[in-house]
Amino acid sequence: MALRITCLCGTNAMQLHGTPAAQANCHCATCRDFYGVAVFSATAWAVESVTVSGAENARFQHPAKQLSRTFCLNCGDVLFGTNRLGMRVVPNALVARAAGGVLDAAFAPTMHLFYRERVIDVADALPKYLDGWDGPLHAGQDHPQPWLGL
Ligand SMILES: [Zn+2]
Ligand SMILES: [Zn+2]
Repeated sequence: MALRITCLCGTNAMQLHGTPAAQANCHCATCRDFYGVAVFSATAWAVESVTVSGAENARFQHPAKQLSRTFCLNCGDVLFGTNRLGMRVVPNALVARAAGGVLDAAFAPTMHLFYRERVIDVADALPKYLDGWDGPLHAGQDHPQPWLGL
């Protein structure tokens, strides 16, 4: 399947092919600062799974980190970020907007990352990793609930 999404002004369009490699809410200070959000909800994709049409975009490289964001030169919407693994990270807000404001369950976050660095608490049943997904869980989640399938 291919999903077509656009920036707010429609100058740039993106096609997402296949399925994302990861779906998460990231609470890390770097995302918060770089994307200007309290929690960065996004899906991560292999480079070849995200194709962009439209030339009116630019890429900003983080001055200190291995991180960049590609944004529309007209409306400023971030189309995707590129993380240190070279994956393209697409904000859920754009995906939801393309579907009339509702995020398809196929893209819904399956976990919280870097919960240690959070500025807001979240009450849901998703695993809350203090750091990356291969690290420890937030206190109270030491014994993952069986319905999470962990
Ligand atoms: Zn735009
Ligand atoms: Zn982050």
